[in-house]
Amino acid sequence: MRTAQLFWGVVLLNVAVVWALFFTVAPEPKNAILGAGQLLGLHVALLMILQLTLIARLPWLDRRIGMDRLTSWHRWTGFTLFWVVLAHPLFVLAGYATAYDSTMWRQFLNLAVMVGSLAGMIALVLVVVAAGASIRYARRRLQYETWHAVHLILYLAITLGLIHQLFELSTFTASPVATAYWWTLWTFAIGALLIGRIVLPLWRNARHRFRVAAVVPESDDVVSVHIRGRDLDKLPARAGQFFIWRFPGYARWWQANPFSLSAAPDGRSLRLTAKAVGGASAALRHIPVGSRVFAEGPYGAFTSLHRTREKTLLIAGGVGVTPIRALLEESAGDIVVLYRVHRRADAVLLPELEALARERGARVVLLSGRTGSGDPPLAPFEPANLAAEVPDVAERDVFVCGPPAMTSAVLRSLRALRVPRRQVHAERFSLAA
Ligand SMILES: Cc1cc2nc3c(=O)[nH]c(=O)nc-3n(C[C@H](O)[C@H](O)[C@H](O)COP(=O)(O)OP(=O)(O)OC[C@H]3O[C@@H](n4cnc5c(N)ncnc54)[C@H](O)[C@@H]3O)c2cc1C
Repeated sequence: MRTAQLFWGVVLLNVAVVWALFFTVAPEPKNAILGAGQLLGLHVALLMILQLTLIARLPWLDRRIGMDRLTSWHRWTGFTLFWVVLAHPLFVLAGYATAYDSTMWRQFLNLAVMVGSLAGMIALVLVVVAAGASIRYARRRLQYETWHAVHLILYLAITLGLIHQLFELSTFTASPVATAYWWTLWTFAIGALLIGRIVLPLWRNARHRFRVAAVVPESDDVVSVHIRGRDLDKLPARAGQFFIWRFPGYARWWQANPFSLSAAPDGRSLRLTAKAVGGASAALRHIPVGSRVFAEGPYGAFTSLHRTREKTLLIAGGVGVTPIRALLEESAGDIVVLYRVHRRADAVLLPELEALARERGARVVLLSGRTGSGDPPLAPFEPANLAAEVPDVAERDVFVCGPPAMTSAVLRSLRALRVPRRQVHAERFSLAA
């Protein structure tokens, strides 16, 4: 069974367990509206636990599903949480108002003086603020770091949510089984988060002691940073994966940027290649050799572990060539590489790509020019053009990495050309969209 199906199967199983516990061991609610409110509250807890698991960066999940997909699930679970978190108190207040023949406002004032309920109310406000900052309109206008800082208040919301649940003794301690079940879920989620986000990165960095070994300009706006460290042969990194890099002492400590490995890890050094698009990526060009590096990872499912066929098609767009270059180094068999750039001068790492292709008998095709220019208009990833360039595309594993618009166009064409989904692997260089 595929990991994604297994994962969502386990989630549904937990929803079923929560319903079963609610209808068998929880005390009878005063009325149906209150009952619905309490059931919604249990779903809030489940969704929070799911959110923690999705962002825990557990290597087992990440290697199989990929951080981009996990982050996208996290985003949609977050919006579901937002609606359920709004509905839960409305039903509870309406339920109490009906039971005591009072108003929802009166019930709100009654509950607001109780620690557990107050914790829940503050958690609700925090979830609303974080969700507001995550809608596309706000997200596009906020700096990544600002959005991320706002997003961190969700940890406080989750802590308050847990306190709220602990005070709601009727559902949490309805029976020893219910108590054990909820503690197991919370312990798993918080444990996964602590291990994936704190223990593992700290342990890896203490073990490998990464340092900048060289900074090599590749073009006017692209630079490669070579990194050395201890026991790098023990680092479980693969071509196609990425790390989240920090350069403490040089850049600000809260600046952490994801960059893919642009060469297959050889056990002695790592290399990232970054295009300057903003402050952090532009500053890499000036980073002193010897600087300390804090690297979280390796992350990502964009690796040859997921290959299903003998033949491979690698498609790179712009600086999306970085993981493609690393994958080519690691791949064998019949390989075609399509490298899409606006101008030939933008084709960074092209000489390396061509040298690797010669060694491996691979074919590299450079596709330059502006999409839509010329007559007929240039559209290299239209289904007919893609099929003309690579007639046996449906028999290949396809790895595509490039700007989101290009990646989407390629994925659409692959669907039109009936390339089976399991053969298609994409990295979008975007975790927060
Ligand atoms: C999995 C992955 C792999 C990547 N690999 C490469 C690579 O090999 N080479 C390369 O040139 N670029 C790569 N990128 C893109 C690179 O991370 C961004 O260009 C870089 O972080 C921009 O940071 P900045 O501060 O210079 O620019 P900003 O102007 O601050 O950021 C520009 C945009 O980059 C994104 N971004 C910034 N910081 C982060 C962060 N910490 N996490 C997620 N997204 C962020 C945001 O969408 C932001 O709007 C990759 C991105 C991802 C998600």
